[in-house]
Amino acid sequence: MIRPLRAIIVGGSLGGLSAAVWLRDLGCDVDVFERSPAHLEDRGAGIMLNPATVRYFLAKKVVDVRQTSAPIRRLQYLDRAGQVISSAPASWRSSAYNVLYRGLLTCFDRARYHLGEECVGFDQDETGVIVRFATGRVERGDLVVFADGINSIGRRLLLPECRPSYAGYVAWRGTVSEEHLKPETFSLFHEAITYHVLTEGHTLAYPIPNKDGALEPGRRLTNWLWYRNVGEDELADLLVGRGGQRFSTSVPAGSVAERHIKRLHADAAEHLPPPFAEIIGFTPEPFIEVIFDVEVPRMAFGRVCLLGDAAFRARPHAAAGTAKAAEDAYRLALALKACDFDVVKALQEWEATQLPLGKGVVERARQAGERLQHGRWQVGDPLPFGLYRVSDSAMPEEAPAAAETT
Ligand SMILES: Cc1cc2nc3c(=O)[nH]c(=O)nc-3n(C[C@H](O)[C@H](O)[C@H](O)COP(=O)(O)OP(=O)(O)OC[C@H]3O[C@@H](n4cnc5c(N)ncnc54)[C@H](O)[C@@H]3O)c2cc1C
Repeated sequence: MIRPLRAIIVGGSLGGLSAAVWLRDLGCDVDVFERSPAHLEDRGAGIMLNPATVRYFLAKKVVDVRQTSAPIRRLQYLDRAGQVISSAPASWRSSAYNVLYRGLLTCFDRARYHLGEECVGFDQDETGVIVRFATGRVERGDLVVFADGINSIGRRLLLPECRPSYAGYVAWRGTVSEEHLKPETFSLFHEAITYHVLTEGHTLAYPIPNKDGALEPGRRLTNWLWYRNVGEDELADLLVGRGGQRFSTSVPAGSVAERHIKRLHADAAEHLPPPFAEIIGFTPEPFIEVIFDVEVPRMAFGRVCLLGDAAFRARPHAAAGTAKAAEDAYRLALALKACDFDVVKALQEWEATQLPLGKGVVERARQAGERLQHGRWQVGDPLPFGLYRVSDSAMPEEAPAAAETT
C-alpha cells in the first residue's frame, strides 16, 4: 500500500485549519502545530464573509452559514452629527473569528491539533522536511505548510528580506453587546455596515454573532473599528501594554494601557458621531491591531510553502484576509490532486495562481487604505470588498451553491 502523504502545518488559525481539513479530506496524513498553549477562541472579532471563507462549510454541509452569520443589507455613511448621508443596498454577511475557528476545529481531529508547539526551524532535502519545535519535538513530513501569520518563522527563514511594512495607522477594535445600546443606536447599526470618514482616519461598525453564537437582533454584538494614523514614536508607546510588556503587531483586549483607553474614549466623544462615541465608550477593553503590508516574491520552496498572512498580509479594507487564506488552502489541495501528489510540482503550480491573487488583494487594500486614512475617500464610495475582484464578497440571500470539492 502506498503511504499517505504526510503534511505538517505550522500555525493553527484559520489558514492552517483550512489547509488541514482540505488536505485531510484528500487522504493526507495531517498534523497541525500551533504555538499558542490554548485554543484561539477569544481572538479577534468581526469578519466580513466571502464565499471563499466558508467554502468548506458549504461544500461539506458541516456548518450552516445562515445560522452563524448576520445579514448586512446596506452600506451607509454618517456625518459628524450622526445623520445618515448616504445609503446603498448591500448583500454581505458578517461573522466572527471564534465562529469560523470553532467551525473548522470541529471538522478536524483534536488529537492531530497540537497546542503549545512553536516551530523554530526546518531542513529539507529531496525526500522530505524535518521540522523542529521549541519543545524539542521533531517531525518529518512530505509537505510543510507555514500558515503562521504575520511574523511567520517560515517566511523569516526563507525570505529574511521580506519584513512587514508599517502602514502608518492602527485599528482600535472592540465589540459591545447590542443589549447595551440606545434603541436608536441599535436601529441605526442593525443590518448595516456603517462608516464615518474623518480627514485623518475612518471608523466603521457592523453587527456580528455574540460569543455564544446568538444571532437574534438585540442579542448580537456590534463590532467596531477606528483606524487612526499613528507616528512611529507614538506607536512604540501604544504598544507598551498594561504590565509593561512590549507588543509588536497587536495588543490584546485587557492589555492596552489604561491611559490609552481613556484617551480613546475622550477622543471618540470629541471627534466622532454620537453613535460611534457611544459604542466605543461602552467598550471597556478595546484592543489594537497594527496595520502592515506583507508581500512575498515566492510562496513555494521545494516541499515547503507559505500560506495566508504568512505570505501576503493585506490591510483589512478589502475584507479578504481570511478568504485569501482559505482560498490558498483550497487551491493547494486542488493542485496536489491535479499533480497526483507530486509535492514539488504541485507547489509550483499552486504558487503560479496564488502569487497574483495575494499581490492583487494587498495592492487593492493598500490603495483603499491610503484614500480612507488621508481624506481622499468620498462619502458614498463603494467598498473594495472582494477576493479576486471587488464585489465577489456578495453573499446571495438564497443559500449559496455548494462549492466544487476535491
Ligand atoms: C483589523 C483587522 C480586521 C480584519 N477583518 C477581516 C475581515 O473582515 N475579513 C477577512 O477575511 N479578514 C480580515 N482580517 C484578516 C484576517 O484576520 C487574517 O488575514 C486571516 O485570519 C489569516 O489567517 P492566517 O491563518 O493566515 O494567520 P493568523 O490568523 O495570523 O494565524 C497564524 C497562527 O500561527 C501561529 N504561529 C505563529 N508563529 C508560530 C510558530 N512559530 N509555530 C507555531 N505556530 C505559530 C499563531 O499563534 C497563529 O495562531 C482582518 C485583520 C485585521 C488586522
